[in-house]
Amino acid sequence: MSSIPRYRIAIVGFGSAGASAGIMLAARGHEVHLFERAPQNEPVGAGFLLQPSGMKVLRDMGILDELLPETAQVEKLFCRNTRDQVMLDLHYNDLAQSLFGAGTHRGTFLTLLEKHAITSGVHLHWGHPIASFTQSPQKVALTEENGTTHKDFDLLLIGDGARSELRKQTSIPIKCKQYPWGALWFIGQRTEGFANDTLWQAVESTNLLNGFLPTGTRDDLLSLFWSIRMDRVDKWFSSDLNQWKEQVCYMAPQAEDYLKQIHDHHDLKVASYYDVVMPYWHDGRTVILGDAAHALSPQLGQGVNLALLDAATLVESIEQHPLNEALPAYSRTRKAHLAFYQRATRWTTPFFQSDMKALGLIRDLAFPLANSIPYVRNQMVATMAGLKTGIFSMMSTESPSLPVRKNQYLLDDSASAS
Ligand SMILES: Cc1cc2nc3c(=O)[nH]c(=O)nc-3n(C[C@H](O)[C@H](O)[C@H](O)COP(=O)(O)OP(=O)(O)OC[C@H]3O[C@@H](n4cnc5c(N)ncnc54)[C@H](O)[C@@H]3O)c2cc1C
Repeated sequence: MSSIPRYRIAIVGFGSAGASAGIMLAARGHEVHLFERAPQNEPVGAGFLLQPSGMKVLRDMGILDELLPETAQVEKLFCRNTRDQVMLDLHYNDLAQSLFGAGTHRGTFLTLLEKHAITSGVHLHWGHPIASFTQSPQKVALTEENGTTHKDFDLLLIGDGARSELRKQTSIPIKCKQYPWGALWFIGQRTEGFANDTLWQAVESTNLLNGFLPTGTRDDLLSLFWSIRMDRVDKWFSSDLNQWKEQVCYMAPQAEDYLKQIHDHHDLKVASYYDVVMPYWHDGRTVILGDAAHALSPQLGQGVNLALLDAATLVESIEQHPLNEALPAYSRTRKAHLAFYQRATRWTTPFFQSDMKALGLIRDLAFPLANSIPYVRNQMVATMAGLKTGIFSMMSTESPSLPVRKNQYLLDDSASAS
């Protein structure tokens, strides 16, 4: 019989962090109860780019092969300014042939995680908003907004997202600020002019930025992101939609057909960004994961990937240490990787989304130069791939569980079918 203790664990939040941690913990025999305020899992949400770092976790969980056929295989990030200067032209395979990104949606991803949560035995409690928790040295208890309590947990995982209310109830110091800039997003059919393997972006100064991310092979979808100052969102909703479309076409002339799918301002959704900093992420029998612990702007496209790595690291710490040592070990292990991405994101974001026009000029001079130096470009690819752990360090690209290319899967499939 295994000598590893089995715990009764509560998780708050069915996002990438909470759901993936729940699946891994239940698969290891722990009794996992996941509380989510949404009444059910809705197949909705913005497109995002899964990076090799996050795919590694999904492969170890045995989920990646099922997800990849639903995703768009993204080979590169291309970004230019409106004077046609190339800012970034980053190819995953410059770093290693096996690497690529996978464009997908929150809905597709969480539907798959829900399926695996059920089969691995996670007790899913939809429509249960948690208002507070209390902990003693022995146990944790949760209270719902309607006053219902859930007691006798050995451990609480807080994964309730960037605007977490629960993290404020720990003793961990927190800095949380909302970025002045956010984004409008839309998901439509991919149209001619947008390659299905490229995250394509255009910038002008620091106040105009748009991006187009392929986000699904089966339906051939493409997600649009349009940078906007949060205090201008209301005005945008009452502005002339055709004028906005003209602005998008000025940035991305190939978008004309794609934009025909947008009929009303409300076809677009608004996303706000937060910057959350905590010196560590554990407090007694409680640990904080994902955006609740370290939200950042999606400039480097890392949030889901960081959440998956949080979950995998926590599960490993629980396997390797007694509980009182596992949570500090978790914070120690995640420190370098998270610190790198938080700093890199904070440093990069104002060059693309801010009111500091001078940074746009510096970017237009410095980024093409950086992109032309092979060493620097490789470091930028490693950063995009989610693999950096410090300025001069990164995870190995040789890991056996880094993804192989999707066409490799297709070859394998056809080989086994014949
Ligand atoms: C426009 C945009 C583009 C992005 N692009 C990328 C990208 O390309 N790549 C990438 O990796 N990341 C990207 N991100 C970031 C990514 O979406 C987040 O980092 C990630 O979803 C965080 O996951 P999470 O599980 O920590 O939190 P969330 O996904 O926010 O999940 C938190 C869950 O907790 C629930 N909850 C909240 N409070 C309670 C409560 N009191 N009780 C019960 N349940 C509660 C919520 O309903 C929610 O389901 C992007 C984000 C945005 C906004």
